[in-house]
Amino acid sequence: MKKLRLSLTDRCNYRCVYCMPECPEWGVKREILTFEEIERLAAIFVSRLGVEQIRITGGEPLVRRNVADLVERLGALRRAGLRRISVSTNGSLLARYARDLAGAGLNDVNVSLDSLSAGRFEEITGGGRLGDTLAGIESARKVGLPVKINSVMIRGVNDEEVLPMARWAYQENLPLRFIEFMPLDSRGLWSPDKVLSEREIIAKLQQEFAVLAEARTGDPARYFVLNGRVRVGIISTVSNPFCATCDRIRLTADGRLFPCLFSPLKTDLKKAMRAGGDADDLEARIFAVVTAKSSGFLERSVEQHTHVSMHVLGG
Ligand code: SAM
Ligand code: SF4
Repeated sequence: MKKLRLSLTDRCNYRCVYCMPECPEWGVKREILTFEEIERLAAIFVSRLGVEQIRITGGEPLVRRNVADLVERLGALRRAGLRRISVSTNGSLLARYARDLAGAGLNDVNVSLDSLSAGRFEEITGGGRLGDTLAGIESARKVGLPVKINSVMIRGVNDEEVLPMARWAYQENLPLRFIEFMPLDSRGLWSPDKVLSEREIIAKLQQEFAVLAEARTGDPARYFVLNGRVRVGIISTVSNPFCATCDRIRLTADGRLFPCLFSPLKTDLKKAMRAGGDADDLEARIFAVVTAKSSGFLERSVEQHTHVSMHVLGG
């Protein structure tokens, strides 16, 4: 396991239709891991279990206060083998925090952007403003933070955006990844026919660009180069699951560790830690969940549907 996704909160200032319930019930604050608890767990993941990359996520991580401080504190783990600290954000608060995050040593940022039409953006995000996210992207680039764009494509919602998004990414020279809609939304919107598959996304791209596939790596996305210049990735979790090569684990804001987005397996690290568990105990719990992870969760759970949604799991 090389990559840890660390959720700082289940809260969010957006209500994306493919993620968040319309009226979310947030976790109780005292159940949320403190920065000290996060640091303690992160140290175990890095120094004892070989994690090299930490992605800070949520909910919307930047609605939590002092994220730059946490980034700086986690930076101390670079001595123990940590190589990257990244943030996934909806970008709405990035203009405010980009400079502090870069100063704290953040390596890069992924911004979710599913539409370039202000009206559709507002509909998808439940009231978000496209201008805020674009300003966030601009600010991050200005302070030298590498930015990648993530875009969930849903048939009948924003599938017309494949080419406009690709054109924009091409003009802006921004790496873009399309993500297939996964059955992890809280509203029951997901159905197989709403998934715009990798094959369909490629066919749309080929209407306008020369699309050259790169060799597949361990990355969840398969990459293509448009007109020999801009890289576009497609994360085809539904049409082409990559369980066998996945090396990510997920820690929720309330301290539960999930080995996989679709896994019923978990262990409650916060409970163990607050009950006095030491580093050996926590390491053993993490190890047990990680080694019990097997491939093929996706195929099973599309039918069974996991009850934990993306805003809790962190994507
Ligand atoms: N709020 C941040 C954001 O939107 O980037 C971080 C958390 S969000 C849960 C992480 C990623 O999960 C985003 O890229 C989002 O688009 C993606 N996501 C959420 N629900 C999804 C779903 N049902 N299918 C596919 N991707 C989803
Ligand atoms: Fe919030 Fe991100 Fe989920 Fe949208 S995808 S509701 S921005 S957590």
